[in-house]
Amino acid sequence: MNVSSKLSSTFFSTTPHILTKCITLIQHCASSKHKLKQIHAFSIRHNVPLNNPDIGKYLIFTIVSLSAPMSYANNVFTLLHNPNVFTWNTMIRGYAESDNNSAPALSLYRKMLVSCVEPDTHTYPFLLKAISKSLNVREGEMIHSVTIRNGFESLIFVRNSLLHIYAACGDTESARKVFVSMDERDLVAWNSVINGFALNGKPNEALNLFREMSLEGVEPDGFTVVSLLSACAELGALELGRRVHVYLLKVGLTENLHVNNSLLDFYAKCGSIREAQQVFGEMRERNVVSWTSLIVGLAVNGFGEEALELFKEMERQKLVPGEITFVGVLYACSHCGMMEEGFNYFRRMKEEYGIMPKIEHYGCMVDLLSRAGLVKQAYEYIQDMPLQPNAVIWRTLLGACTLHGDLGLGEIARSHLLKLEPKHSGDYVLLSNLYASERRWSDVQIVRRSMIEDGVWKTPGYSLVELGNRVFEFTMGDRSHPRSQDVYALLEKITELLKLEGYVPHTENVLADIEEEEKEQALSYHSEKVAIAFMLLNTAPGTPIRVVKNLRVCADCHMAIKLISKVYNREIVIRDRSRFHHFRGGSCSCKNYW
Ligand code: ZN
Ligand code: ZN
Repeated sequence: MNVSSKLSSTFFSTTPHILTKCITLIQHCASSKHKLKQIHAFSIRHNVPLNNPDIGKYLIFTIVSLSAPMSYANNVFTLLHNPNVFTWNTMIRGYAESDNNSAPALSLYRKMLVSCVEPDTHTYPFLLKAISKSLNVREGEMIHSVTIRNGFESLIFVRNSLLHIYAACGDTESARKVFVSMDERDLVAWNSVINGFALNGKPNEALNLFREMSLEGVEPDGFTVVSLLSACAELGALELGRRVHVYLLKVGLTENLHVNNSLLDFYAKCGSIREAQQVFGEMRERNVVSWTSLIVGLAVNGFGEEALELFKEMERQKLVPGEITFVGVLYACSHCGMMEEGFNYFRRMKEEYGIMPKIEHYGCMVDLLSRAGLVKQAYEYIQDMPLQPNAVIWRTLLGACTLHGDLGLGEIARSHLLKLEPKHSGDYVLLSNLYASERRWSDVQIVRRSMIEDGVWKTPGYSLVELGNRVFEFTMGDRSHPRSQDVYALLEKITELLKLEGYVPHTENVLADIEEEEKEQALSYHSEKVAIAFMLLNTAPGTPIRVVKNLRVCADCHMAIKLISKVYNREIVIRDRSRFHHFRGGSCSCKNYW
């Protein structure tokens, strides 16, 4: 049925009695879409003029409140003569609250201005909400300046919406400015700004804001807690996250599935897999996200067998795994060197669960073959893949070629990488190591020179550790920290101690070395060593040490840290760019392949 033409045929006069009845009916049917349609039909039957602003106003309001399709509301809206500000606002609100179609809100607002209807205090929060969904920071700025001009900017919900847009769009500076200018900050405001910082690579700022919030006596809720846990996970701030956990227990938020899932994810990402398992065990309600988080967490932390056991249990409970679950499963197979099982799961994923393999799954398969030393088969597998291999896949192959000394395939892999990511410094490093291993020194020089000419610079390495209430950052050869003299004295002592344990500083063995950082010079230690020495000095004997590193751990540091874990009897957990290393008693969970 063409609703518009049907509706426009109702330009007849109606008795006021029917009109009032219609309005009353509409006002009272806010509970069901079905009833709404019945009343709509009633009004058409009785020739009630839907272009009457009163009827239209209530009808649109009810359609929007029932989350009925906005096309329906719009059909009614287009019939209205001179809709008032309430109706415009309702339409804008409808678009703002619709799941996938908030874009028309702004054009509606423009039409409203053209129709000479003055926006009021309710217009901007809805409009800003719509804009924050489309993540368009320019539109947000535009509306921001309008609210300043017409004096609405100081209203708390306008500020909250502006704050939300800037934070959600990643414009943390503007978010902070709005936030600082607010006289009255409610929980919504704190949540917007904390979440904005947490999601946009500024976890430390998020945590600082949380401390401020506590000082101002504002109590956090579930949203605050989820943002905080994701910030703690990113920084590897285990102690701080544990305190958030204690708080959750105190206020009874541990019944919330979403909160529990982020708690589980937080512990897994901090390398504290036993605590992740405990959270999982205590959860009353679990969904596929909970199972998947723990499976992936176990796999990347080096507990491949346990990850696969958990997956089997998940299948026994008739839960349906998703594509990320299978990334964890395949990763676990690769880590455990379980080639046959890996291929088996890959096939079952497609056949039993109907999941189309994505590039990440193919990446796991290439890793599986590469890890097993089957470099040629890995290359053939890449060629037969139905998807275009990405840089990660070629880098996996290049790493395997370096490790297993296959220069020919290494060059092929690099040529693909050059096309895909011409400025990625890691690949130049890989290839120069490969040439060095074959003693083709002139080629090494050529690669190094082209690196300088192409303007490729290495990403500076840094390591994070948590001590007390703070997260400390260290860079290579960093001397900017308190007790830095003691730290370097300890590093020298460590080197001496390790030599007694048979440690040879790693400068020659380039074959096994695919590092991303400059080689360590004397007295210029990589950031993770500086961080570990700092923690050895500042924590009690036996305390585990956790480090988050932005690059891959180099072979030399890996070897040294294994020995440090033995000599100092400390568990050391490092999360590097791609995996976890759990060092204990002189060995590492990655089984020396990473
Ligand atoms: Zn290193
Ligand atoms: Zn390792």
